[in-house]
Amino acid sequence: MINYTEVFKKMPMAILYVKCEFLENGFLTMKVEAISDNLCSFLNMNRKEIINEDFFKILPDFNNDVKFTDMVKDCNNENLNYTKYVKKLMEFIRITIQKINETNFLLYLDRCIDTHLLEDIHNEDKIFFIKDKDNKYVYGSEMFKSFSQYENKDIYGLNDIDLYGEEMGGLYLKSSEKFIKEMKPYGRTICKLNNQIYFLHRNAIYSNNEVVGIIGIFENIMGKIEKINDGNIFTGIVNNIPDHIIFKDINGVYLECNDRFLKDLNIKREDIIGKANSSISELNEIHVSTIKSDLEVINEKKRKIYNEQMNINGKLLEFEIVKEPFFDSYGTLIGIIAIGRDVSHRTEIERLRLEFFANLSHELRTPLNLIFSSLQTLKSTENELLKKNEKINKYINIISQNSKRLLKLVNNLIDTTKIDCGFYEYKPKNENIVNFVENIAMSVAEFAKQNDITLVFDTDVEEKIMAFDLEKLERTMLNLLSNSIKYNNFPGRIEVLLNDCGDTFNITVRDTGIGIPSDKLNVVFEKFKQVENRLRKRSEGSGIGLSLVKELIKIQGGIIEVKSEVGVGSEFTVKLPVRLLENEESFDDSYYEDGNEGLVTRMNIEFSDIYI
Ligand code: ADP
Repeated sequence: MINYTEVFKKMPMAILYVKCEFLENGFLTMKVEAISDNLCSFLNMNRKEIINEDFFKILPDFNNDVKFTDMVKDCNNENLNYTKYVKKLMEFIRITIQKINETNFLLYLDRCIDTHLLEDIHNEDKIFFIKDKDNKYVYGSEMFKSFSQYENKDIYGLNDIDLYGEEMGGLYLKSSEKFIKEMKPYGRTICKLNNQIYFLHRNAIYSNNEVVGIIGIFENIMGKIEKINDGNIFTGIVNNIPDHIIFKDINGVYLECNDRFLKDLNIKREDIIGKANSSISELNEIHVSTIKSDLEVINEKKRKIYNEQMNINGKLLEFEIVKEPFFDSYGTLIGIIAIGRDVSHRTEIERLRLEFFANLSHELRTPLNLIFSSLQTLKSTENELLKKNEKINKYINIISQNSKRLLKLVNNLIDTTKIDCGFYEYKPKNENIVNFVENIAMSVAEFAKQNDITLVFDTDVEEKIMAFDLEKLERTMLNLLSNSIKYNNFPGRIEVLLNDCGDTFNITVRDTGIGIPSDKLNVVFEKFKQVENRLRKRSEGSGIGLSLVKELIKIQGGIIEVKSEVGVGSEFTVKLPVRLLENEESFDDSYYEDGNEGLVTRMNIEFSDIYI
C-alpha cells in the first residue's frame, strides 16, 4: 500500500498542508499539519519548528495581511496566487493556495526572482534597493545606506518621501509609480544623489504577469558623461561661454549648470543642484513658465524655443531659451538640456528694422497715392480720349486696379508695423455704432450685388451710442466683408448682424462661402498665413488682413472669434466692450472729413484684390 505521508514528504516543492480555523473576529489561524522536506530547506528551518505551529508564526509577514486572509477565505475550486516580499527570506515569495476541503488547504511556496540574480547584485557590492508593488522599500543594500541614511533593517516599509523628504521623495515616488503602472520590464532614469549623478536602472519583478516589485540599481555615471568639473579646456569654455547651460532630469530637477548661469543669477551651486524650480527662490519669477516649458519638451520630445524676461543684476533682459530633450543610448528620454542666451540686442535691431520698414512703406505710399489720384482725375473728367479708345480705357483700369491693390498692401504693412512698434494709437469717440456699421454694410451691399451676392443687415437695437475707434472699426468691417465676398460662392449671401449683449456689442459677419477647415481656424489670425485652397484661386491676398483685424480689435479691448464649416460658410464675430467716454475734447475729427466719399475710396482699395 502507498504511504501518502511519505509521498507528500518527498514532493520536490515547498508545500504545507494546513488546517484553517476562521475565527469570528475575522482572524484566521492556519495550523501546519504536514510539510514536504523541501519546505524545510526553503525556509531554512527544521521539521519540529514547523509542524503543528501556526503558519502566521512561521512567516509573520503574512500576519494581519487582510488581502492574503481574504484570498484564503475566498479560495474555492481554482487555485489562487499571492506574492509578497518575505523579510525573513529577503525574497519575493509566491504562494499558491489550493483548497482541499472546507478547512484544509495546501500552500505551495516558490521564489519570484532567480536567486542567482540577487546573489550577483549582493556580490558586486552594488547600490541597490528592492521595493514592493506598493512602492514600499523592503530592502536596501549596504551601499544604499549612504543615500537613504537608513540601516537595512530599518528601511522595511518606508517609502521615498520617508527617505528623501516631500519634494525629492515625491518626485521619485511619482516616477516609480509610473514605472509600476506601465508594467515595463526595465526602465532607466537619471538622478543626482550626494553630489554624484547616477543612472537608476529599474527592473520589474513579475509574478503571474503582474509587477510585484522593483529592483533598483544605481550606476554612477559621473565619469561617463562630459566631465564638467575636471579643469580641462572644455570645462573652461562651458563655464565662460556667455550663455546659460543647464542640464535637468525629466522632473525638472537641476543636475548641472555652467558657472555663467550661477554668476548671472547670483546663486550658489549648492542652492540649485538637486532641486526643482519651484523650491529655488532665486528663480521664483520664472518658475511657472519654466515648469510649463519643461513639461512641453518632455511630453513632445522635441526641441522648443522660448522667450523669457529675466532680471540680471537689476536689468530686465530678454532671453531666448532653447530646450533640447536629452536621450540616452537606448533612446530613453532622461533629461533636458536648456541653453539660455541674452537676446536683448535683437529687440533693438528688430525696432530699427520695423522703423526702416515703416519709413519704406510711407515712401511707397506717397508715389502710389499720386498715381492713384491722377488716374481718378483722368477718369472723372470723362475724357473724350478714354471714351473713344477702348484700349486706353482698359489699360487705365488695369493700372488703377493694381495701384489700389498696392495701396492696400502698403496700408496694411504700415499698420501692422505701427502695431508691432507699439505706435498705433487708440482714438475712440462716442458714436452710434449701429448707424456706423449699417452705413458700411449698405455701401458694400451695392458692390456685393454686382457680384451676385446678397448682403443682409440685421440688428436687435435701433441705436447704440458707445465709444469706439471709427477708423479701426471701418478697417475691420471692410476687411471682414472683403473676405466674405472673396471666399463666397456665387450666387452667395452675407449677413451682417448686430447684437447688444450688455457688456459687449457684437458684430457678426456670416457668409455662405467655401469655409475654413477646423484645423486651420486658429491660424487665420496669424500674420502671412493663408489657408491653402487649390480648387479656388479667384482672388489674391497677402494673409495680413485678419492678423491686422485681430490687433485692431485688441487695441479697442475687444476680441474676434471665428466659426466655420467647409462648404457651408464662415462666421466672424467681433465683440467690443461697451463703454462711454466722459471727455471727448481730445478727439481728432480728421477721419470724418471726407464723409461717404472717403468710405467709398477706402472700400475700393480694400476690395481691390477681389476679381470676379
Ligand atoms: P488674405 O489677404 O489672404 O485674404 P486674411 O488675413 O484676410 O488674408 O485671411 C487669411 C486667410 O483666411 C485667407 O487666405 C483665407 O484662406 C482665410 N479666410 C479668411 N476669411 C475667410 C472667409 N470668410 N471664408 C473662408 N476663408 C477665409
